[in-house]
Amino acid sequence: MLGNSVACDGYEENRPVRVVTHAHADHTGGLRWSLRECRKVLMTEATRDLIEVLEGPLGTRLKNIETLEYEKRVQFNGEKITLHKAEHILGAAQVLVESEDGERLGWTGDFKLSGTTTLSDCDTLVVESTYGSPMCRRSFDVDVRKLLVHMIEGRLKAGTVYVFGYYGKLQEVMQILRDAEVEVPFVMPEKVYRVSKVCEQHGMRLGCMTLSTEKEAKMLLEEDLPCVAFYHMNSRGSVGLNNERICVSGWEFHKPCRRIGEKEHIIALSDHSDFDGLMEYVQQAKPKRVVTDNHGGRHGETLAKEITRRLGIPALAMPCKSYQAIFS
Ligand SMILES: [Zn+2]
Repeated sequence: MLGNSVACDGYEENRPVRVVTHAHADHTGGLRWSLRECRKVLMTEATRDLIEVLEGPLGTRLKNIETLEYEKRVQFNGEKITLHKAEHILGAAQVLVESEDGERLGWTGDFKLSGTTTLSDCDTLVVESTYGSPMCRRSFDVDVRKLLVHMIEGRLKAGTVYVFGYYGKLQEVMQILRDAEVEVPFVMPEKVYRVSKVCEQHGMRLGCMTLSTEKEAKMLLEEDLPCVAFYHMNSRGSVGLNNERICVSGWEFHKPCRRIGEKEHIIALSDHSDFDGLMEYVQQAKPKRVVTDNHGGRHGETLAKEITRRLGIPALAMPCKSYQAIFS
């Protein structure tokens, strides 16, 4: 909750404005409630288009949605609300709420540092904490993108390569491959295909894509011909079991690439900042105080302690029971 009216990435009773920072499911909770109860549901156009694919059509409820470009301001009851780009998945945004008396309240949403401009000089900055522990560092001295291209190109000589990841990141891998001039067909099931098409509508160039149910794609897969098949992480146990397989995951901290099966590797490609990136963001942003997002309870408390200890900025994890005692 930011200011008097705004709730971000969740439904909150009596908050007339809901902001959806991006289309990942852990940020769209209660969306149908928000569409019914809120005066405005704000998000970028790309996020709206992705949500329509991932959550199913929103139908007539779409009328409550107000799409907002990055850096454009809307006003609600005297508060100014602005979305700023977050480098995470297509359409991802940070949120800044400025009150009538000039108080600045920010929420980073999910982000990785490079490509994200900091919300500077906030009175209170809420920071994501996915990799908020000093154990979560990815300080490899290799270019993970180059490594990914190299691995896929090499394996394509033997036939089809399967790539597993989450929505948004799969499309990032597609873009990395196309930028590196890997021109083989990309095969994918319907939902991945539709998400990819939205990404193309919003400026990504993903080249030749084929639905896995089409005749041509079936032939490519059955005959194990050179193509890349993109599937959601949840399909890992059911498709491409005998092929070369690559999973892209942020939960890798020791090596950029790890072999986990005879023909299976994990590549450390993340769309979140690691611990050092989170600390650097806060250091650059210079907020007066920080709240670390502790939903899921993984590393919010650790990150808050480290921000206070290393940067001297008061920080607290929320939700937590003792916040009133500390901030009041
Ligand atoms: Zn996310």
